[in-house]
Amino acid sequence: MAAGDEKNWKLATTLVHEGTRRSQFGETSEAIFLNSGYVYDSAEIAEARFKGEDDGYVYSRYANPTVSMFEERIAALEGAEAAHGMASGMAAVSSSLLSFLRAGDHIVAAKALFGSCLYIVSDLLPRYGVECTLVDGADLDQWEKAMRPDTKAVFFETPTNPVLGLVDIEAVCKIAHKVGAQVVVDNVFATPMLQRPLELGADIVVYSATKHIDGQGRCLGGVVLGRKDYIDETLHTFLKHTGPSLSPFNAWVLLKGLETMPLRVERQVESAAKIADFLGEQDKISRVFYPGRTDHPQHALAKKQMASGGPMVALEVKGGKDEAFRFINALSIFKISNNLGDAKSLITHPATTTHQRLSPEARAEAGIFDRTVRLSIGLEDADDLIGDLKKGVAAI
Ligand SMILES: *Cc1c(COP(=O)(O)O)cnc(C)c1O
Repeated sequence: MAAGDEKNWKLATTLVHEGTRRSQFGETSEAIFLNSGYVYDSAEIAEARFKGEDDGYVYSRYANPTVSMFEERIAALEGAEAAHGMASGMAAVSSSLLSFLRAGDHIVAAKALFGSCLYIVSDLLPRYGVECTLVDGADLDQWEKAMRPDTKAVFFETPTNPVLGLVDIEAVCKIAHKVGAQVVVDNVFATPMLQRPLELGADIVVYSATKHIDGQGRCLGGVVLGRKDYIDETLHTFLKHTGPSLSPFNAWVLLKGLETMPLRVERQVESAAKIADFLGEQDKISRVFYPGRTDHPQHALAKKQMASGGPMVALEVKGGKDEAFRFINALSIFKISNNLGDAKSLITHPATTTHQRLSPEARAEAGIFDRTVRLSIGLEDADDLIGDLKKGVAAI
């Protein structure tokens, strides 16, 4: 294709073609460059490459052609200047922050975070002299009050894990930018299809590509997106010397995942909305959390910043742990797992698994109770999934 053509592409086309680099063999599907090192035609070329005067590859810890294809494709999807593939979602989160924060800096983060992200901001960073303030992500006053002249970073996810609370991306970015802080958004639960944090003012977006980007439960991966200077200099230098690099094989799986992501996420959202409505009608289900429903407390915000309600649903059964376990154990299509974003529908009891480490008080503050259940909607037929959930409801 001619350079510049891609500017007119719609997302589905971009996700099939953007970033493709064909080898001399003209393969249709992208090749997996499963190599650690590179050879140089002469000592002079090796010298020029190390000096940065020749932009070929040097070592796969730094960069690799299959990883580059994944990075270019997802950067085009996100509307980012640049992207860096990472070994996992947690490598993306930790590197995105550690690469630019230093002792004496301050970070403000929302309390409702994926467990390991909470560890990074509230346990790990303080050990290296980065002070952390946690706020209720839905309360803009708390964000405002937490900002200080030395606040260098703001971190949150929206919708949050597991009960799908929302953070107003645009409003928090405005508050953070007044003190010059960089806003880092973990966009996993919305997927790149349904929410565009960079357009709402965020500086950096991170993903666990393990989830909907792969979408079929096959491999770990992550990605950080943002401005070119941050990605290619700050983050790249950190990655190059510390090593949380994305494997070329996993990059290839994720690259192929991007091709089908619009179709998959569209189907998952369609089913999730049907399932949320079904659950909303059940007497034995006391609450349903789904941003696409008008009974979600932040439905107006969902409509403002998300293209739809998303592929995740949370609920509370009437009762406690026994009732929740009976509901979960009665299902056969939904598989019990702490993972999400798979072709297979997955069900989680957060209080005894992903959030077991928290005290009951901390769990309550995060809206997680013994009666709370999280669903990740997969690619099965929605009627089959609802049939499965009917068995669960009957068992409560
Ligand atoms: C899964 C997940 C992560 C961590 O990603 P890994 O690929 O498992 O390391 C971070 N944030 C959120 C919101 C997640 O769901």
